[in-house]
Amino acid sequence: MTTIKASCPTCGEVEMTSNDVMLMVCNHAPLSYYAFDCPSCADEVRKPADDHVISLLMSGGVRAQVWEVPAEALEPKAGPTLTYDDLLDFALLLSHEDDIAARISEAITG
Ligand SMILES: [Zn+2]
Repeated sequence: MTTIKASCPTCGEVEMTSNDVMLMVCNHAPLSYYAFDCPSCADEVRKPADDHVISLLMSGGVRAQVWEVPAEALEPKAGPTLTYDDLLDFALLLSHEDDIAARISEAITG
């Protein structure tokens, strides 16, 4: 089995086998990554995987899994960034929705 060398931000260079590395190839290339649990500190390490890294890992026997990012996640976002106040307003509106749903339910069943 091929030995894979990678670096952990805490422990530095570590060695593992191809079975210890997870390679996730995305249909949106910049979101492809590989991950492993560091054999020394047990932290999960996750790093971006460009085409070179992907082919290197696959030649070392790491199996690639394909994942697709939903198209709406890549849409350009317009308008100001949401704030905590926006989130609180939204949560309050949701509670009003519950009131409305409860009244409708009462009206239907009662
Ligand atoms: Zn580590």
